[in-house]
Amino acid sequence: MAEQDVDLFVIGAGSGGVRAARVASSHGARVMIAEEYRVGGTCVIRGCVPKKLLVYASRFREEFEDAAGYGWSIGTPAFDWPTLIANKDREIARLEAAYTTTLERYKVALVKSRAVLDGPGAVRLADGTRIRAKTILIATGGWPYHGDDIPGIEHVISSNEAFHLDVLPKRIVIQGGGYIAVEFAGIFAGLGSEVTLVYRGENILRGFDDDVREHLRNEMEKRGIRIICGHTVAAVDRSGDELVVRLSDGTRVPVDKVMFATGRRPHVDGLGLETAGVKLAPNGGIAVDAGSQTSVPGIYAVGDVTNRINLTPVAIREGHAFADTVFGNKPVTVDHSNVPTAVFSEPEVGVIGLTEAEAVKALRVVDIYKTSFRPMKATLAGRDTRSFFKLVVDGETDRVVGCHIVGPDAGELIQVVGIAVKMQATKAEFDAVMAVHPTAAEELVTMREKAMSYGREAAE
Ligand code: FAD
Repeated sequence: MAEQDVDLFVIGAGSGGVRAARVASSHGARVMIAEEYRVGGTCVIRGCVPKKLLVYASRFREEFEDAAGYGWSIGTPAFDWPTLIANKDREIARLEAAYTTTLERYKVALVKSRAVLDGPGAVRLADGTRIRAKTILIATGGWPYHGDDIPGIEHVISSNEAFHLDVLPKRIVIQGGGYIAVEFAGIFAGLGSEVTLVYRGENILRGFDDDVREHLRNEMEKRGIRIICGHTVAAVDRSGDELVVRLSDGTRVPVDKVMFATGRRPHVDGLGLETAGVKLAPNGGIAVDAGSQTSVPGIYAVGDVTNRINLTPVAIREGHAFADTVFGNKPVTVDHSNVPTAVFSEPEVGVIGLTEAEAVKALRVVDIYKTSFRPMKATLAGRDTRSFFKLVVDGETDRVVGCHIVGPDAGELIQVVGIAVKMQATKAEFDAVMAVHPTAAEELVTMREKAMSYGREAAE
């Protein structure tokens, strides 16, 4: 088989891989990138982007319902799933083409093939072609993980398939308590499915602030989502056209679809890591140093495959920093602290920094400010919903070290609050900003009463 030489070979044309490839090429490197599925990766093809489009679709239900209180009468709205999916697919195809064009514009050679390591300085394509590369970047992302095998697992879908269902399920069980599980629960409920969320832990969104978890759970339940915590799906039986989910306590739930969103694992199987000597970290991701170099000099890894913070902007930053450092003679280290993030549930969640529990463990003095209120729009709409804002403050320095929001546009809000938190703004500096009235966000600068104060006596 033919052999070729490149300066950089990137395995995986997702968020991290595409960015690294084009930046390395702009620094003058000869770059080749391999993609075994579709250019754009998880985020564009079956993650953030199609997910957000489905979230938008699901939110029209409340808009239609709420309009009546504002004097609108709009008849009976009807929803058509195949139209939504076809339109979504068209947009994803457009984005995939745009990513491909970008690679071409930057003179990155794209091979539509699986690629695996073939020793430390080479990769092998599916047709056997061997490519020698001075530097290799592994950016293969993650893959849904369904946990232990259960009877009937073949009937279970993941988020990958949820984007391509022929019909909207009338009833669905979603197992999982992470952001993908709660987002899809909101999507399906908003579009009209009867949703049961099953999670083995004591409450959804493990790792998030406890008030956020409680608040979101309440709001989801108000929207008719049945949330069953402390149980798991033990089996899925087919019974004619329908599926019957058996829970660990013996409860049987008849459904049309069962989806698991029980986590994602780094996509490393069969990559040839052992033959090249690339080591894994205890969390299953490829072990890397601060500059994303693996245990083998010349082989780097970025994004979800390293299992650091599995978000698109993080993968992009890591890919960009790698390319600037290795090919641009411009050393850059990615700062993984204070990464803002959103959950596009209904209502939305936006968070940055420490939770109350984390702050109490890490700091000597912690002040908590929080408020829960009915959003103005809900008044005339007659909707029973509440928003939640919380600031976690280091009581010794007055710095805002955490912000947690549940409510409309929380994702948009946390991006902006993130700037202040990253700049190490103090609570006094938040308070010095004039409120924008009437908004929900004005709560961020008007909360004066401490809801809780930890450790002040001990520190004094
Ligand atoms: P990926 O984007 O996964 O790209 C890896 C690519 O490598 C894939 O295209 C894959 O086909 C290819 N590949 C794998 N192995 C090989 C091989 N051997 N040879 C050739 N090609 C290979 N993040 C956010 O920030 N915001 C969100 O709202 C959000 N929502 C999400 C919703 C869902 C349902 C999912 C699943 C994820 C979501 N994410 C979100 C996470 C986000 O998609 C990932 O963090 C991001 O895509 C990681 O980028 P990456 O470059 O590491 O890998």
